[in-house]
Amino acid sequence: MKLTVLMDNNTYIDQYYLGEPAVSYYIEDGDARILLDCGYSDAFIKNASAMDIDLSRLTHIVFSHGHDDHTRGLQFLRDAVELSDVEIIAHPDCFFPREEDGLGFGAPYLAEEVADFAKLHLSKEPVWLTERLVYLGQIPDAFGFEKRHPIGKRGIEEGWTDDYCYDDTALAYQTDEGLFIITGCSHSGICNIIHQAKHICGEDRIAGVLGGFHLFDVDDRLMQTIDYLQSCNIRDFYPCHCVSLKAKAKMMEKLDVCEVGVGLQIEM
Ligand SMILES: [Zn+2]
Ligand SMILES: [Zn+2]
Repeated sequence: MKLTVLMDNNTYIDQYYLGEPAVSYYIEDGDARILLDCGYSDAFIKNASAMDIDLSRLTHIVFSHGHDDHTRGLQFLRDAVELSDVEIIAHPDCFFPREEDGLGFGAPYLAEEVADFAKLHLSKEPVWLTERLVYLGQIPDAFGFEKRHPIGKRGIEEGWTDDYCYDDTALAYQTDEGLFIITGCSHSGICNIIHQAKHICGEDRIAGVLGGFHLFDVDDRLMQTIDYLQSCNIRDFYPCHCVSLKAKAKMMEKLDVCEVGVGLQIEM
């Protein structure tokens, strides 16, 4: 498996890719060519092209959740490449409209619109993409300190309702040394996600974690999260996107934190 960061908040010195506060990862595993999230603008497409990654050969697009910093770029990808044979995998709540204080921040399309131009596969259950790579489906709440809080409102038939972001999920890859977990924003809680990955894969060892954990403040939740992550003995630890500098600094006291930026490649 080879993962390339096509979009992240951070760029590396002397590497002239585009950055934005958004996520897109390109993953190759065997014959599968998978995009996890589509960033916010068309910048991830420009980065892919600068990296000689051919997005017209994608087999799957997986959405970690429906927020626009993970889904909005789909409209530019749709203009750039043919998606009719591409399987798009997401939680059934991913494509609902979302707003906060009158500002929309949901996906650019409704589910029925996506189904018009790609093979849409909505699932709350895990979906194996390859022999070793799995979409984790809806993440159960396992840890009390990762209690869900509403993030804006979700538009359903009955009107607007508090959004607990149950569509937030992640990927897990089975390496010989344990699981490598790849997240979007971890609104479901990074510990809950790791717990679900262990359960789905029947594997307790965690080789690596990469992605956003939605941790900003130094508070009780962060400290309990760090304790859990430390107990997992993670070798390759890549917090990014929605992890604040303060939170990373606190993590560095107990964990070996690696820097993430556009262009980072991880092979296993
Ligand atoms: Zn989000
Ligand atoms: Zn995000």
